[in-house]
Amino acid sequence: MKAIHYAAFTALFLCFSCQQENPKTNKTQNHLKQYITVLGIAQDAGYPHIGCQKKCCIDYYNGTNKKRNVVSLGLVDQENKQKWLFDASPDMSTQLADLEQHHLKKETIIDGVFLTHAHIGHYTGLMYFGREALGKQGTTVFAMPKMKTYLETNGPWSQLVSLKNVELKPLHNDSTIVLNTQLKVTPFLVPHRDEFSETVGYHIQGPKKSALFIPDIDKWQKWKRNIVEEVKKVDYAFVDATFFDQTEVARAITEVPHPFIIETVDLFKNETFETKNKIIFIHFNHTNPALITGSKERKKLEKEGFRFADKGQNYDL
Ligand SMILES: [Zn+2]
Ligand SMILES: [Zn+2]
Ligand SMILES: [Zn+2]
Repeated sequence: MKAIHYAAFTALFLCFSCQQENPKTNKTQNHLKQYITVLGIAQDAGYPHIGCQKKCCIDYYNGTNKKRNVVSLGLVDQENKQKWLFDASPDMSTQLADLEQHHLKKETIIDGVFLTHAHIGHYTGLMYFGREALGKQGTTVFAMPKMKTYLETNGPWSQLVSLKNVELKPLHNDSTIVLNTQLKVTPFLVPHRDEFSETVGYHIQGPKKSALFIPDIDKWQKWKRNIVEEVKKVDYAFVDATFFDQTEVARAITEVPHPFIIETVDLFKNETFETKNKIIFIHFNHTNPALITGSKERKKLEKEGFRFADKGQNYDL
């Protein structure tokens, strides 16, 4: 009996491992037609973080923790052989390769890139479409009006436009883009420190399920919508998890205002397990203990239903 249990457990474990680690045998996406895949989970500056000499990043250099890519989601439609990217992170070149190698190979590198805003973790990957890198023409990039003007009028991004490496498609607040018969995307404005562009989150609608993607937002109270109600309307909500709590923030919080994970958790404290389970924290600062899979901070909240994004996870739409 013990031996059978052990064998079953080993098989299960191996299966789980291969789904997460060995994409060649990754069966997860084979039966999924339309889905979101997580390509990166870290805040703009990634993990490890520049200039950090604290334990959080030492644990990368001493081999305890592995590198984490900057936030990005892939949207894949195996049925219609199409794929899109949400945010062009500084890790975009390998994230596009991840999509190509492990999800969908096709002639065009990507069918479109949706940008949230002009902070370094969310658009600078566009540089890889330029003359020094890919250098192909006509990659579609969806951007809000200020973001679009910013790219058109500031180098080096303006060269991507003049050389037609990217074809900018305008987005409008709450206006839906129909990608194909199965998938729709709607941007919506969120409050954030908008130095160069406005900031949006996205609503992604699949044939069966829907998702919110809000990697960056100021405190939830500053948003004119109610996050609890918005989460209830969807199946998955990928939300800003920059900081776990106040203890990580050495700078004035007014300089980097984000909802702490504990504040988001508190807003949902009276909700059901099912509602909490829709929340998938993403966009972790290097100091955030929830960046690390298996950390006690994660485990405690996972018991309550909250989820944490990890590279390689697929969410059926
Ligand atoms: Zn960010
Ligand atoms: Zn660090
Ligand atoms: Zn930002």
